[in-house]
Amino acid sequence: MLIEGVGITMLMDAGEGVQIRLREVGVEPAQLDLIAITHLHGDHVFGLMPLLQSVAMRIESMKIKRSVVLVGPQGVDYLARAAIGSFDKDYLTIDVRLIEDPRSSVVVVDGNTVVPLPIAHGDVRSWGYYVKLRVSGGRYVRVFYGADGVPEEFTIEFLKRNGVDVLIHEATYSRVHSAEALRTGHATSDTVARMAVSVNPQVVILTHISQRYGSYVPQLDEVRTRFKRVYLAEDLMTYPIYILPREELDVSGDVLFP
Ligand SMILES: [Zn+2]
Ligand SMILES: [Zn+2]
Repeated sequence: MLIEGVGITMLMDAGEGVQIRLREVGVEPAQLDLIAITHLHGDHVFGLMPLLQSVAMRIESMKIKRSVVLVGPQGVDYLARAAIGSFDKDYLTIDVRLIEDPRSSVVVVDGNTVVPLPIAHGDVRSWGYYVKLRVSGGRYVRVFYGADGVPEEFTIEFLKRNGVDVLIHEATYSRVHSAEALRTGHATSDTVARMAVSVNPQVVILTHISQRYGSYVPQLDEVRTRFKRVYLAEDLMTYPIYILPREELDVSGDVLFP
């Protein structure tokens, strides 16, 4: 998922085919300022190494100096090193920020704040990302991207304290398949509906839907029974978040931890 603000382009997760998608939306790999990886499952990370190679290749050919921030759990550092090992270090620097504790892992790039927040995903450590994105007119939009799993209590408390405008969350399963969701450490429509009610964002966007549902995705209606402002993400869908900021909201200060 791509988040674009004023002079900043961030990519959340890099599954297989990410470069094709970037090309389809007209974004050059070398244009990315920050890449955040939620966890090391293949569907979130298989595209990272080829993507970083493209970034390195492009930057080396343009002979410019550039730094890209890479945020993620331990392991993304190895992938980054392996991907750009053979390229000239004079040009591209990958500024790797491994997540230890959310309080010490806040990343600020050009006035935009990115905070990793813990998500329970079976036996894999996963991180959701809270982004305070600078948009036009010195205003901010607060986005949370949660994948994969069920947000921990700390995360919900953080989101309640700091506020969310756009909540993008995985809803792999319908509530009908909650036993399977529990077994695989995924969210259901119930997980997202509960979260939406307690965090009260302006809009909810569901993503990471299990293939089994085909053209009718029950999660959308299931969430809608409890929270009206919900949409389903589709490939290449664009959501114009700049229309969202409420002017009276002062969110320019630091983030607050629970
Ligand atoms: Zn996963
Ligand atoms: Zn996944």
